[in-house]
Amino acid sequence: MTTKTRFAPSPTGHLHIGNIRTALHNWMWARKTGGHFVLRIDDTDKERSKEEYVTGIQRDMQWLGLDWDSSFRQSERFDAYEAAFEKLKADGRVYPCYETAQELDLKRKVLRSRGLAPVYDRGALELTAEQIAAYEAEGRTPHWRFKLDHDAPIVWDDLVRGPQKFDPPALSDPVIRRADGSWLYMLPSTIDDADHGVTHVVRGEDHVANTAAQIQMFEALGADIPTFAHSALLMGKEGKLSKRLGSMGVSDFREQHIEPQAVLALLARLGTSDPVIAESDITHLVDTMDFSRFGRAPAKFDPEDLARLNTQIVHGLDYGAVAERLPKAMDDAAWHAIRPNVAHLGEVADWWAIVEGPVELPEFDEETRAYLKTAHDTLTGLDWSDAVWGALTGALKEATGRKGKALFMPLRQALTGQNHGPDMAEMVPILGRDVALRRLERAAQ
Ligand code: GLU
Repeated sequence: MTTKTRFAPSPTGHLHIGNIRTALHNWMWARKTGGHFVLRIDDTDKERSKEEYVTGIQRDMQWLGLDWDSSFRQSERFDAYEAAFEKLKADGRVYPCYETAQELDLKRKVLRSRGLAPVYDRGALELTAEQIAAYEAEGRTPHWRFKLDHDAPIVWDDLVRGPQKFDPPALSDPVIRRADGSWLYMLPSTIDDADHGVTHVVRGEDHVANTAAQIQMFEALGADIPTFAHSALLMGKEGKLSKRLGSMGVSDFREQHIEPQAVLALLARLGTSDPVIAESDITHLVDTMDFSRFGRAPAKFDPEDLARLNTQIVHGLDYGAVAERLPKAMDDAAWHAIRPNVAHLGEVADWWAIVEGPVELPEFDEETRAYLKTAHDTLTGLDWSDAVWGALTGALKEATGRKGKALFMPLRQALTGQNHGPDMAEMVPILGRDVALRRLERAAQ
């Protein structure tokens, strides 16, 4: 059977670190198993769903490289939901309820005050035909609940959490439809997973209790029950993910010059017993993905880890992977020279400015100026090649007796205006003969 996973964001906001991680897990599992990855847009909430968020979600997924094999929106599926609803109604698995929000709130408060769990008391099932008629006459329209079967515990073997068991009477019958006819998340999601043959539902552990109810919905619809994997939630370094960290998304990554590969490498392994590695090729991470290695403890997200991983990844990126975002005149050799000196791509321009000049030179003393004059004259006489730096420093060592820092530092300073930076053997050929000579000449004056 082909694996099918789905990522089902609601277009009521941008993707954030938590749901990017869920998207990644689903995508990885589909890719690892040669399966199919669906992007489902959960837009049943007409008020809060916005087209700009749909486009934003698609754009963010593309930036991350999480390609989907098919996509659909729940708003295209209302006929299917209606048909399933009618079937469940005919089977007595959904029932109308007339309580107002305030009445329900009060019931919950009473239960809590008695130290009891705020489970819905199924009061609506006790209503007589007259009471219902009276409510209808009052102008109340019902909302609808799914009637959980109380006869047997709900069990499943979660790929992350292991064997799970829920006692149905401890759960409220979930509201599936509002009085205005609009759908809540629970039933449409189950209908979609059933109709689309989703084999693996991979999501955060905040959905565990939903899964218990949804398993009964699959059964009531006569559908196969998918396999579930609930990953532990993300936490900040010191506890709950702060609002700022929790809402971190692709626009923040771009602003901070975080590469998509770094985001993927971190989120693929965070909270698992496999080490986070600076792997820019996702294939290895996909191949080694294993739900049984996902931990049950919350995974700690630290943006500093992301920045560090990003630097490591940038140091390994080929020219081809970054060329589009480099200064135009920068070629493969220049990228190779500058790459180890940057924490992220945003720093490349500073180094490139040093190649392009003008550079600001320090004040050299007389003796150093004389040395730089010798360097200039020596370089004038040398054949220009990629090995010119070695030839120059070799000749200068011989001629002046200088070595180490005294030999190299004035040259670096004269040629780049800096005390540190790219390997000069790579840098000098990038500067080119004319620029190198001009800078040495100026420094010697
Ligand atoms: N739209 C739901 C959410 O974002 C989907 C949950 C699910 O994966 O079933 O929470």
